[in-house]
Amino acid sequence: ADHSFDYPARPEDVDWRSMYPSIQQGQQVSFADVGCGYGGFLVTLGEMFPEKLSIGMEIRVKVSDYVVDRVAALRRRCADTGAYQNIACLRTNAMKYLPNYFSKGQLEKMFFLYPDPHFKRAKHKWRIINQALLSEYAYVLRKGGLVYTMTDVEDLHKWIVTHMEEHPLYERLTEEEANADPITPKLYQSSEEGAKVVRNKGDHFLAIFRRL
Ligand code: SAM
Repeated sequence: ADHSFDYPARPEDVDWRSMYPSIQQGQQVSFADVGCGYGGFLVTLGEMFPEKLSIGMEIRVKVSDYVVDRVAALRRRCADTGAYQNIACLRTNAMKYLPNYFSKGQLEKMFFLYPDPHFKRAKHKWRIINQALLSEYAYVLRKGGLVYTMTDVEDLHKWIVTHMEEHPLYERLTEEEANADPITPKLYQSSEEGAKVVRNKGDHFLAIFRRL
């Protein structure tokens, strides 16, 4: 069930080699796609940043199994070039276990793309961006690290921006800075949810924040 997870007591206990067979001694995961869904954006990250290790974190077992199989198939297809050795998917509850996987200041970038909106007020505490969790994200992020958020739900976007701006450890990038980031155009349709919004000609709301 979604309630029982095996999780490491501390980051040193994680068997990264089982996820990244070609990992180098001392190499660490730098990018985390939180709630990665079917992994479309994770694949894009792997292609854009061959030198970096990216991890997708997904709570639904069928979905994370799908991404694990997807990555394995890409690796097999590209066995001659060694592509996609730098991406992997982990089934976990990212709202609970991030500090079990990542040490302080480890992550350079975190992505929250089209997170579940949890529209009802009573469910707001389940939103993956909330005041308490922002401090945990700040802990695993390095100084100057970036948090990327994208949603098609305007109310959720406003919620995210309000909470991030209230938090002392984040500042929002200006529109100019956000547009200059080479990742920005990929946020609109690399992920399955993003592609759906593009097909339906829906709105996208982007906000990127720097860890101070
Ligand atoms: N980011 C993907 C995209 O853009 O296509 C998926 C978006 S989907 C609306 C949100 C995803 O977050 C779902 O796959 C859900 O299972 C996952 N999720 C929700 N809460 C989570 C949690 N606490 N930890 C990990 N994944 C979570």
